[in-house]
Amino acid sequence: MKFINAQCPSCNASLSIEEGRTTAFCTYCGTKVILYNENEKVFRSVDEAAIKKAEVQKEIEIEKIKNQEKENKRNFIFGILYIGLFIFIILILGIGACFESFDGFGENQSHIDGIAMPYSDNAVERVKDYSEVVDELTELGFTNIETYPHASPTVKIMGLENKIYSIKINSKAPKAGKKYDPKSSIVIEYFISNMF
Ligand SMILES: [Zn+2]
Repeated sequence: MKFINAQCPSCNASLSIEEGRTTAFCTYCGTKVILYNENEKVFRSVDEAAIKKAEVQKEIEIEKIKNQEKENKRNFIFGILYIGLFIFIILILGIGACFESFDGFGENQSHIDGIAMPYSDNAVERVKDYSEVVDELTELGFTNIETYPHASPTVKIMGLENKIYSIKINSKAPKAGKKYDPKSSIVIEYFISNMF
């Protein structure tokens, strides 16, 4: 077995190290030495403490990264939850608004200051002239009344000229006695003859 001579980098003692080895311990001071370049017979002491410190530092870094990842994940989940909650609230508000405008009037308000509609859209009211109904509704305070003629060839024979064909409030049949917003859209169609 061949040995090479080297000097301990820590205590300068002469060391005899087996050829081919990459690390050894100084027989005098115990320093771990590493063969850095065999041809030049250069040995370096190994700073165990520095390695340990580096390892601990690395573990701390890994722990930090793990924690960061956990936090990111948590933030992501909370983000999704907040977005979900936001959409949910928007939907609830939207649905609420739809119901509000269903009769053109909020449920609460209608009991306070709505105007009671005297008519339903049924045959009884059709014996009245439409102008009579318009006057009556205008007097009650309704402000958005439109009238349209409804032509029919039998109107003259039946004696229905200018009688009510239909009453709609906010595109629906009115309920007699129900309170409506004064600005509700009232559409009255009345019979005219298309026979001349
Ligand atoms: Zn030594």
